[in-house]
Amino acid sequence: MSAAKRQWKYRPRLPIEYLPYRSLPVSLIAQQMYCEKQVDLWLDNPTSSRVSVPGGIEEVETAKVHEERGRADERVELGEDFHLTVERSAAGIEPAELQRRLRRDETLILLEYSLQGNYKGLPLIGCADALRCKGRRVSRIIDYKVTNTPRLFPSHQAQLRLYGYLLEQAGYDITDLTLVCVFIPSSQQEWIARLSPANTERFLNRVWSAADKIITRKPIDKFSAYGQVLVKRGIKVTLGVFPYKEEKVIEELDFAVSYWLGKRAPIPTKQAGKCARCLYNAIDRCTDALVPFSGTNCE
Ligand code: SF4
Repeated sequence: MSAAKRQWKYRPRLPIEYLPYRSLPVSLIAQQMYCEKQVDLWLDNPTSSRVSVPGGIEEVETAKVHEERGRADERVELGEDFHLTVERSAAGIEPAELQRRLRRDETLILLEYSLQGNYKGLPLIGCADALRCKGRRVSRIIDYKVTNTPRLFPSHQAQLRLYGYLLEQAGYDITDLTLVCVFIPSSQQEWIARLSPANTERFLNRVWSAADKIITRKPIDKFSAYGQVLVKRGIKVTLGVFPYKEEKVIEELDFAVSYWLGKRAPIPTKQAGKCARCLYNAIDRCTDALVPFSGTNCE
């Protein structure tokens, strides 16, 4: 048995007991798909709000590490800005009013919609960026990613599928559910920050209709499809569209839960590019790093 496995075997508590939240956020499960070892290292000191940033390292120190060793990882910050912009554009609705409108079978677009559920007794929570429904029948869930790599990675897909799973547990009909990931280039930081609520709504409407066109053009019953939408002169975003598959989400949940319940050791990524830009590697906290830290984005 390797030293790492022996250390794991004699760990005093289950990973779920280290979690600083009452429920397991689905974004953390998605992060497991990126690198489960990174989640495990974050759990040792989960003071940072971002799993990719080791606890105990001040933001300024993190920036310094990047500055000294390579390019800055700006994706998450930009993503947070964008989510705040979208949130500002949404009108609030009381839960009782929402239930009334769902019962009347209205077509609604819900932004920043909180979800709860469980799997094998483990409570789960999530917050879908946007979803469209007619009554309790949900046809689309959209998730926004600010990134310069517009590709559907397993972590993106898992997160959207988990929202679908939680919606079904909450009593929604997801028979016709299609999942959409919107990739926004990070160079649009200023544009995003300046969006007024009206322009945010216009932007979201363009994304919805572009997603509809992709789905009409090519039935998304088995595979994923990509398309681009021009949201403003010179500004294009990419859409990745794929179907909801229940068997896949159960497989992902089984995988994730077996780690949280301590049935196996955390699995490090097999992609050297991730290790090359991982901050745990930068501060020599990961014994499974495949290459030295360089700060270069290889994903
Ligand atoms: S160095 Fe590599 S294996 Fe270790 S936590 Fe980072 S990404 Fe995962």
